[in-house]
Amino acid sequence: MKKIIPSFITVLFLLFIFSAEFSVSSLDMQAVGLVVEPEPVVDVAVPIQADYANGKITIGGKGGSAEALVKPHKFEFKDIGKGNLILVNQSYPVEKHFFHPAMSDLEGRVPCSKSSLILAEEAANQLAKMFEDAKSEGVNDLTVVSAYRSYSYQTALFNNKVNTYIKKGKTKSEAKKLAGKVVAAPGTSEHQTGLAVDIFSKELLQRTGGLEEVFDQSDEGKWLIKNSHKYGFILRYPQDKQDLTRIIYEPWHYRYVGKPHAEIMVEKNMCLEEYIEYLKENQRIEYTSSNGETFLIYYLDNASDLNDIEVYAYVGQAVNASSDNTGGLILTVRMDKII
Ligand SMILES: [Zn+2]
Repeated sequence: MKKIIPSFITVLFLLFIFSAEFSVSSLDMQAVGLVVEPEPVVDVAVPIQADYANGKITIGGKGGSAEALVKPHKFEFKDIGKGNLILVNQSYPVEKHFFHPAMSDLEGRVPCSKSSLILAEEAANQLAKMFEDAKSEGVNDLTVVSAYRSYSYQTALFNNKVNTYIKKGKTKSEAKKLAGKVVAAPGTSEHQTGLAVDIFSKELLQRTGGLEEVFDQSDEGKWLIKNSHKYGFILRYPQDKQDLTRIIYEPWHYRYVGKPHAEIMVEKNMCLEEYIEYLKENQRIEYTSSNGETFLIYYLDNASDLNDIEVYAYVGQAVNASSDNTGGLILTVRMDKII
């Protein structure tokens, strides 16, 4: 009993010291307007770590004294080889049986000039939203002329074009070269990815009978150039990028790349070929979009074998993962939750 009483007094004394210490520091914090709750400490500067053998990517890491509080969020991405940022052109084709895993009908959702048009679900949802907003701004004559095209359909289109040049007296190889500038050779068409869509004006289509450059002078064409990036679409074959895309200027051909990539590309005046190169060179970029969302975009080399991956994010939210079809992986992380 004699031993307990002094111990009891010691405990009381210590409690008094601690509570005094705590109330002083709380007051100090309130005085400068600080948040009292302890924040998990994360280390944003830790580079991304990739375990390719197990398809696991880790962003950021634990650090500081609150280490135990930090648990990574797990995100799963499937079929990243069919993701929003794949580059498809004459140098980087897709295979014959490439088919996007989640396709959606456009019929009944947006005006279409043909039946049975389909597009990748995410792109279709954004397209519908874009058409609705255009309509609410008085631009109500938009129509979809072409969306997903199969390898065999593209083959027929390409061969038709080759034949028209042969009829004009060109040799077969000359005809193929010329046709390739106007109609993508099978496997090199973005339409096979389910992420590309040809958009035109209904009234203009009746007059021209086909897709013509003059579309960029119509209200519809102008509206798309100005606004499509807000929905994750880019004008894929701009006038001033023909030497890079190796495709003629097509003011009707829009490609879904998702947010915030479309906005960055417009801001930097980059076509997809340039943007992939830019990410490859920088490996990690930080971007704050016009609506205030901050993103970290990572580029990982030598990731061509990855298809289904797990992402463990200590910082932000992994919102998208896509292969680039040139051997790299692009990971998009939204930072609004933590920072
Ligand atoms: Zn097209």
